[in-house]
Amino acid sequence: MIGDMQKWTPNIAGIIEHAKKIHPKSEIISKLTNGEIHRTNYDEVCLRSRKLASKLCQDGYKEGDVLATLALNTFRHLEIYYGVSGMGGIVHTLNFRLHPDQAKYIINHAEDKIIFLEVPFVPILEALKDDISSVEKFILLCDKDEIPETSLKNVYSYEEYIEDGKEDFDWPSLKDDAACGLCYTSGTTGNPKGVLYSHKSTILHAASAITAMSIDQDDSILMVVPMFHVMAWGIPYYGPMLGNKIVMPGMHMDGESLYTLINEEEVTMAAGVPTIWMQLLAYCRENSKKLTALKNTIIGGSALSLAILKEFDEFHDVNVVHAWGMTEMSPLGTTNVPTREMESMTKEDKYNLQLKQGRPCFGVELKITNDKGDALPNDGKSYGHLLVRGPWILQKYFKSDENAVDNNGWFDTGDISTIDSDGYMTIVDRSKDVIKSGGEWISSIDLENAAVGHEHIAEACVVGVRHPKWDERPILLVVANEKNVSKDEINKFLSDKVAKWWLPDDIIFVDELPHGATGKLLKVELRDKYSDHLMEK
Ligand code: ADP
Repeated sequence: MIGDMQKWTPNIAGIIEHAKKIHPKSEIISKLTNGEIHRTNYDEVCLRSRKLASKLCQDGYKEGDVLATLALNTFRHLEIYYGVSGMGGIVHTLNFRLHPDQAKYIINHAEDKIIFLEVPFVPILEALKDDISSVEKFILLCDKDEIPETSLKNVYSYEEYIEDGKEDFDWPSLKDDAACGLCYTSGTTGNPKGVLYSHKSTILHAASAITAMSIDQDDSILMVVPMFHVMAWGIPYYGPMLGNKIVMPGMHMDGESLYTLINEEEVTMAAGVPTIWMQLLAYCRENSKKLTALKNTIIGGSALSLAILKEFDEFHDVNVVHAWGMTEMSPLGTTNVPTREMESMTKEDKYNLQLKQGRPCFGVELKITNDKGDALPNDGKSYGHLLVRGPWILQKYFKSDENAVDNNGWFDTGDISTIDSDGYMTIVDRSKDVIKSGGEWISSIDLENAAVGHEHIAEACVVGVRHPKWDERPILLVVANEKNVSKDEINKFLSDKVAKWWLPDDIIFVDELPHGATGKLLKVELRDKYSDHLMEK
């Protein structure tokens, strides 16, 4: 028998309409490229999203059109999220750090019809303009008088473009499961692949994220995670659902700028990847500053290190919420929020628990399997391939005919992990990064985390390289912040933190490590570069 409740074919624009009605004056703060602070609120963002949607319709754009952004975290990007998706279009977020070949590939694959872009990114598209023929218009996120000289054709300013859009635009009813957003995987796992989110999956994801991350209605959220990286982990949707003040740093992501924004805008919750927090913590340490307003920080995208966790806790009294997910999961899979149980634990036990990637939020199922596909026990020790299933996890990649999941709907994340009896999942490694030494596995992540615990190591990367006897052995690449630190000293430091046979076969000092477009270490590059390093010895 079918339930008697109303059919639900949501339009994401309902979120910004809700925010306008219930939280019209909640602020949206953006630090613009020129350093100015721009202030607006949900009332205005909603009206301007309606204007954009109306203008796009007048201009002949229709449901299913893919319209891209090459933009930073600012109020205009937020308006585009709602204006484009709300009129039935698909907002495709491009990352400005992409290699030009990848950007070209992605724009062509998605068949973007418009690109909304920040003024400083004009040269990126000028270099690609002859190879991206689907793009009909370039809309610069600025006023008319701020448009620079450019070789791009059909260029408009955003302000000019939306000027004659209608503030009383009626959002259309959309088809069940209509698409609203498109993100490509960052390419650390091969060619970028598109993941096409729906209005329904995005709303379900946002609603679950609120509970899984303990977001409070009064939180003022610093959205450091870029809006081009998996829809900024859902903040642009759940922020307006709750009416949170949202603070956006634009391109000013250095420690001092973030510290100033946190203090001046009384930010209580901040979300970003570990490298961003390392910069903020270093700035605070070097300048004896305390993050007084901040209560919680959500850290994900890469593994949280003990050093970051401890410094937030001990020096700033800030709770760390460790989160794990991926583009294919919208992205949220698990979170690790403070529990009452943690309050009675020793610091060491508490930190050990907090370093785990956390428990699945409602809606996400997890399991681990061995190479044959048999499920492994949730005993905190057995590790295997991590598989996930749920309503905001992809079924297939964009424009692919094949399912990306098995017959029972399980998606293989490419991560290797354990799950303990309380449901806490721990990423051991990515399946392609785990080091297979003489048939046993060494976790590159664990070794890296141990290494960055050393006071003179700013960043560490462990890769498996060929070895004549053991097939593969780990080498450790470090960026040191003190010239005199030696290999012996690092080895000694690691020796009581990891098993003896895990100790790296060599330690190499480098000036910097290569990062991909979303800030993750580019291990493939390093593995290639050093692949014969131990063979030559
Ligand atoms: P890509 O798969 O292209 O690197 P994603 O942003 O989708 O891009 O990254 C997802 C992957 O990032 C996960 O599968 C996982 O390996 C890693 N990751 C995300 N969050 C964490 C975390 N908290 N700890 C460890 N790894 C993480």
